[in-house]
Amino acid sequence: MTEEQLDKIKGVFYGQAIGDALGLGTEFLSKKEVSDYYPKGLTDYSQIIQDKHRKRWKIGDWTDDTDQFLCICDSILNNQNVDELSFANELYKWFKGVPMGIGQTVYKVVSMPQFTFYPHKAAELVWKLSKQQNASNGAIMRTSILGTYEFWDYNSVVINTEKISKVTHWDNRCIGSCVVVTLLIANILNESQYLDAKQLCHIADKYDNRIKSFIEISLTSDIEQLDLDEPTAIGYTLKAMSAGLWAYFNAKDFENGILKVINEGGDADTNACVAGSILGAKFGFTSIPERFINGLIHKDILENRYNEYIEQLKKSYT
Ligand SMILES: [Mg+2]
Repeated sequence: MTEEQLDKIKGVFYGQAIGDALGLGTEFLSKKEVSDYYPKGLTDYSQIIQDKHRKRWKIGDWTDDTDQFLCICDSILNNQNVDELSFANELYKWFKGVPMGIGQTVYKVVSMPQFTFYPHKAAELVWKLSKQQNASNGAIMRTSILGTYEFWDYNSVVINTEKISKVTHWDNRCIGSCVVVTLLIANILNESQYLDAKQLCHIADKYDNRIKSFIEISLTSDIEQLDLDEPTAIGYTLKAMSAGLWAYFNAKDFENGILKVINEGGDADTNACVAGSILGAKFGFTSIPERFINGLIHKDILENRYNEYIEQLKKSYT
């Protein structure tokens, strides 16, 4: 692997965690509330208001999104490949600890009897009980790492993303939006190929024809068009995907992109995880401002996991 590829993979890890930890500052706020609390915009961890929701975390800590990203990482390190049962076990261990910020869908699925033996069946059942309506963002918030794993083999990236998404999220909009993001990242890493909207729509259409319009809208230069704080759609997987793609198509650099997404409010930690990991792949770890990196209170954990992961990835790189 080249130095540039390593820098971009590290950018995915840090972009994910930074988006999460900084995005917590505006999570579940409307855009109006964001401008009330942060009149000049949220630009640093130190500004994060300590209301009932946010004060559960220390400033600079990430939330469930990155906890679950690291569950995928750990399952890869333990198993030396991507395996849904291994991931389900890691997720269950996390769930039995202190699963801060856990989303409703993940909670319901992981609570099902015999989840660790039949995670896909549990996810399918919970989805059917939602009358096939539930397409929340609990898979897309964690799966960006799968765009880096064996990124040189697109077929594997797709298969791995599908099976890890389906551990908790069965809806084709969830699976398709995860695959859009991981293939986008894999392409950037592989040959600095930048997929365009038409190519992304082609990928998405294999899963669900409702994904396409959320790809097309992300081309707009005006992020307000995405309506990320729309009250009835907070937590929707396609909103998170469009936030990530907006950053991909429009941001000039990491900082500009992540802050634009965060200051729109809505499910901002998840939106910024998706945007941050994509921006990290596009611009690389070295493009990320130091204050974002050093402000992560669990930076050492992330750095160690990244190093272990890269050692393993290098072994399978041909
Ligand atoms: Mg979260």
